[in-house]
Amino acid sequence: MPEADTEQTVVETEKLDSSFLRKIMKHPGGEKILVCLQCGVCSSSCPLRLVSPEYNPRKTVKKAILGMKDQVLSNEFVWFCADCNACTERCPQGVNPSEVMKAIKNVAVEEGVAPEAVKKIVANLEEHGRVYPIEEFTKDEREMQDLPSLEPDAKVFKINKKKLLREKN
Ligand code: SF4
Ligand code: SF4
Repeated sequence: MPEADTEQTVVETEKLDSSFLRKIMKHPGGEKILVCLQCGVCSSSCPLRLVSPEYNPRKTVKKAILGMKDQVLSNEFVWFCADCNACTERCPQGVNPSEVMKAIKNVAVEEGVAPEAVKKIVANLEEHGRVYPIEEFTKDEREMQDLPSLEPDAKVFKINKKKLLREKN
């Protein structure tokens, strides 16, 4: 079991953003966030809590409700969320915390503050139609395994980068 959650959260009222909660609730999965009763069942179920006390779905939900946008979006926890659904299966309120994490990620993308690695993946999709470009190493490996060669640019589907990463500028 994770250790008891005794860390206190400092709320800097001047930094609260009341639009943050509305944005989360507009995304699929974020609709039920307000029925959270802060029981902590999600956090005690979350495997990431074993890695760091900062990786905490209950606190993330609480901070999101309060409008602590900077603190939520600057914490890598939502991006590390394994989508294992342990929290969602046990949440007594049907908040669906794993989906709330996805809604928060969508807001981060809209705000242009997604991690650089995520931006890079989108750029690769846009440029090559793949999450990573096909390089010489991959080509050689495929040849050694008698696998058919891959086109450098898959272009399986068109990616609208602006739609995926609504950057501020
Ligand atoms: S289990 Fe559900 S109700 Fe309890 S703190 Fe987590 S999200 Fe909120
Ligand atoms: S879905 Fe994400 S937040 Fe929920 S328990 Fe799994 S890792 Fe934790």
